[in-house]
Amino acid sequence: MSKNFLADRMSVLEESTTLALNAKAKALAAGGRTIYNLTVGELACETPEYIQTFVAGKLNENKYTPPAGLPELREKIAGHCRQFYNLNWITSDNVIVTGSAKPALWAIFTALLDEDDEIIIPVPAWVSHIELVKIVGAKVITTKLDSNNDLDIADIRRKITDKTKSILLNSPHNPTGGIFSSDKLTQLAKLVNSKKIVIISDDIYSKLVYVNNFVPVPKHNFKYIVIIGGFSKSQAITGWRIGYLIAPVQIAKAVNTLLSHVTGNASLLGQYAGIIAMDHGDKQAGYRHLKSNRELVCRTLSEIENISFVKPAGAFYVFFDVSKMNKNSVEWCEQLLDKTGIALVPGEAFRAPGFARMSFVGNSTILETSLNLIAEFSINYGNA
Ligand code: PLP
Repeated sequence: MSKNFLADRMSVLEESTTLALNAKAKALAAGGRTIYNLTVGELACETPEYIQTFVAGKLNENKYTPPAGLPELREKIAGHCRQFYNLNWITSDNVIVTGSAKPALWAIFTALLDEDDEIIIPVPAWVSHIELVKIVGAKVITTKLDSNNDLDIADIRRKITDKTKSILLNSPHNPTGGIFSSDKLTQLAKLVNSKKIVIISDDIYSKLVYVNNFVPVPKHNFKYIVIIGGFSKSQAITGWRIGYLIAPVQIAKAVNTLLSHVTGNASLLGQYAGIIAMDHGDKQAGYRHLKSNRELVCRTLSEIENISFVKPAGAFYVFFDVSKMNKNSVEWCEQLLDKTGIALVPGEAFRAPGFARMSFVGNSTILETSLNLIAEFSINYGNA
């Protein structure tokens, strides 16, 4: 078939490298090879029992819900976020329940960004943040995080133009695990509040923090703010696809109209999972295990001479610098996969060549074995 049937917009999209590497690791495993798959960002533990039991009791329900979600869930999300972010303006009218954070991001980009509008995104950046903006046809302007994985305000100031419509923030951050400091966020609020710039805060990891000095982005008095949240990462229900968006009413209404034509409503059973999760304070599933895994990973990696990293303050990734061995981290990761069976995500996927992302959600014995193999591989790198 010679004719290209695809719309032009498809030509700008790149496949998620995270998923592509995951697929390669799975294919090798299916061929009988022992693979240590440390690529994917989802909890290894089971869905909390209270969610399983509650949702199991709802299996007889099968009808559409209002597009913005069950009123009870919107009310609970609003109440929780009003308190968590100390934002009194949040009511259920500001909440749109979505089929996870990804469609919420797509919807907000679609609702806010015209072609030619600019959105500033810090890099390294999670793959889909950039690709979703490209689907909409708006322009991604990148700003580099500093050496502590914090915002570089001077650079953001330089990057703001008349076309800047939005700045996307994600703290805790994928892939670095960094959190943005209150000092920088306060400076940023001063910088953008006199302009018509909407801060989009992807708060999907906001329940997954290991330090005491974390202050969520939305607590910094931004004049125009949209919050993206969800249950995938906090409740171990990635496959159930449930999340939400909080926005000023005008924007929330636009997103509601948009999604009413696209998804209709988020999965009913996912919404029930959200209700019971909120009743339990939306606490983090498997937190203790993640905390000890983080210590294990950081202790071992810090002993490897050719590797450096900033200890993650949140999320469940460590993003380490392998550029002393190879500035091309796709190559480095492929060599690692071939030699040891360990799958990591190369920094190129996040616009940060020379780095690799390891997810530490898994079993600690497997992590320990993997870390020993990475140490051995790194010590011998280039000697073969
Ligand atoms: N936002 C960030 C920063 C993520 O890392 C991910 C998943 O990896 C998502 C959003 C997607 O979350 P969901 O599973 O709710 O679509």
